[in-house]
Amino acid sequence: MAGLLGDSILTSGFGLDIEIFKGSGAFVCGEETALISSIEGFRGMPRHRPPYPSVKGLFGNPTVINNVKTLAGLPPIVNRGASWFRTIGTPRSPGTAIFSVVGDVTHPGLVEIPMGVTLRHLIFEVCGGIPNKKRFKAVQIGGPSGGCLPEAFLDTPIDFDALADAGAMMGSGGLVVMDEDNCMVDVSRYFLDFIQKESCGKCTFCRVGTRHMLTILEKLTRGEAAPADYVLWRSKGRPHRSPPVPSPLTRICRSKPIRSQCVVSSVPPCVYSSPFTMCTATIATPTMPVRCKRSPDFLV
Ligand code: SF4
Repeated sequence: MAGLLGDSILTSGFGLDIEIFKGSGAFVCGEETALISSIEGFRGMPRHRPPYPSVKGLFGNPTVINNVKTLAGLPPIVNRGASWFRTIGTPRSPGTAIFSVVGDVTHPGLVEIPMGVTLRHLIFEVCGGIPNKKRFKAVQIGGPSGGCLPEAFLDTPIDFDALADAGAMMGSGGLVVMDEDNCMVDVSRYFLDFIQKESCGKCTFCRVGTRHMLTILEKLTRGEAAPADYVLWRSKGRPHRSPPVPSPLTRICRSKPIRSQCVVSSVPPCVYSSPFTMCTATIATPTMPVRCKRSPDFLV
């Protein structure tokens, strides 16, 4: 329809233009205040809230900040009404979810599903299951700040509350499916390496803590760790939700006088805490270093 954008929309005298700004891709810019800083031309660093962007945001003005998926959902809601929208999904999480499904699935790709379908349905029905007759091991959901959910959680409905209760999150809609050949400890190291590199460095606990955690995990994955390293790793975490998956970053965050303003630590990432409980290839004897049955080079 003409006249819905630009000067004097529908002759109302109110004008609105859309300008697309290409971000520089820093992970921390998924946090709204960091994103606003980067659009303003500054380094993408989160700041404490309040004031919230709705009060003081871009260039000091009140700002509505939503992701593209949210904005794309507005036209059908305006056209068909909120009650129509609420017929899709669950009462507390209406609408659809869009996931980028990658990893060990037969049909990877971008999928849109009604909120409330189970992880099992998404992975095995929509995406065709695990190829090559391999067994499912875990799904990493919610991006690097999310969590890894093992087989016992496959019947978890995909909605904001259920995923949070399971120790994961919706996040930006990233979903990595892993079969039995994946080493959960190495997966954990991979994501922690990403988080460590993407830390903006503003908070000591994130900047230094992720470095220490990565050092321990690298020693573990290289087979150079001593029992004390394993104990140290475990001691850094504590359960934050049920089911308990102790998260080292949870501890880091909670020890801060002011809770983080940032995506990196505002949602405790279980992915770094659960590798040992999910690793079926290792011998679960945490007091002694043992060799991984599947990867003899890996000493636990
Ligand atoms: S938690 Fe990490 S990434 Fe987030 S603001 Fe603090 S230092 Fe930056």
